[in-house]
Amino acid sequence: MSDTPVAGLLSIVIPLYNEEDNVDPLCSALFDALTCLTRPYEVIMVDDGSSDATAQRLAAATECYRALTVVTFRRNVGQTAAMMAGIDHAQGDIIIPMDGDLQNDPRDIPLLLAKLDEGFDVVSGWRKERQDDALTRTFPSKIANWLISTVSGVPLSDYGCTLKAYRREVLSGYRLYGEMHRFVPIYARWQGARITEVPVRHHPRVAGKSKYGLNRIIKVLLDLMVVKFLTQFETKPIYVFGGLGFFLFVVAFFSLAGGIWLRLFEDIHLNQTPLMLLSAMCVITGMMCMLLGLVAELLVRIYFESQGKTNYTIKSVIRGQPSA
Ligand code: UDP
Ligand code: MG
Repeated sequence: MSDTPVAGLLSIVIPLYNEEDNVDPLCSALFDALTCLTRPYEVIMVDDGSSDATAQRLAAATECYRALTVVTFRRNVGQTAAMMAGIDHAQGDIIIPMDGDLQNDPRDIPLLLAKLDEGFDVVSGWRKERQDDALTRTFPSKIANWLISTVSGVPLSDYGCTLKAYRREVLSGYRLYGEMHRFVPIYARWQGARITEVPVRHHPRVAGKSKYGLNRIIKVLLDLMVVKFLTQFETKPIYVFGGLGFFLFVVAFFSLAGGIWLRLFEDIHLNQTPLMLLSAMCVITGMMCMLLGLVAELLVRIYFESQGKTNYTIKSVIRGQPSA
């Protein structure tokens, strides 16, 4: 992300993978909607290593739209990474990601902005009437949404809707990968951001094919576990595992003391009670817990230190100029 964001500038970020027939209608609908706004804007479209003519169509579009920046990846990395690259190239202090297949409607952008103006930091679109296959997409995503909001404690109805609006500051401090773009409101909420949602339109895909199927649900749920783990242990995993290890050492001590007491005063031989075995097991498990704590601590540190690194390779950038 640009180090010195331009105050009041709107940055629309759009990842595209094999969307050749959507580029022109998208640009025309998007720039129509943006010119109706009274704010300056820029659009960053990221070609996520398309194998069709998306990159060429995008390059041609920069001739017509001055505010369009096009970032092209060397190979397909995924929607989240493409979105991250778009955010990295954004100069605005308001970031609005959306899909490149016109399933999101650019005419909804003012609804999101109105909520930001009310003082919210994150506004999430809610596809109340989702136009995707009910059995393979809409129904599984209802279950996933329920699970995500239960696990995270952040009540949103539609995490998967790409159309969202963020104040720039809520996006700094972490990198996105896997399926994590949908979890940004959760990170933001955990850090104290004010979040809300607005119902937005959703259209059936007209050109090209969806890149996702049922297997995405599994990826989303696995990423949810990672998010939960990271934020639980963002503090110090060594405190959690080390504390458990210490507790087990205390149990081992009392169990050993109990065994010795029985031997000395009750004349019960150590072999006749399970206390010695319990004590030994507690010592071993306690040591394993402490070691696990150390490993988790290292992992979390490496994770946070790797945050500055990008997980995509850029082939070319055509830089546009924000509108005045
Ligand atoms: N996308 C991408 N890289 C990928 C897969 C998808 O940039 O590897 C883009 C895609 O071009 C579209 C958006 O992400 O602009 C959402 O993808 P899609 O429409 O396939 O998802 P769906 O709407 O079916 O959930
Ligand atoms: Mg789509």
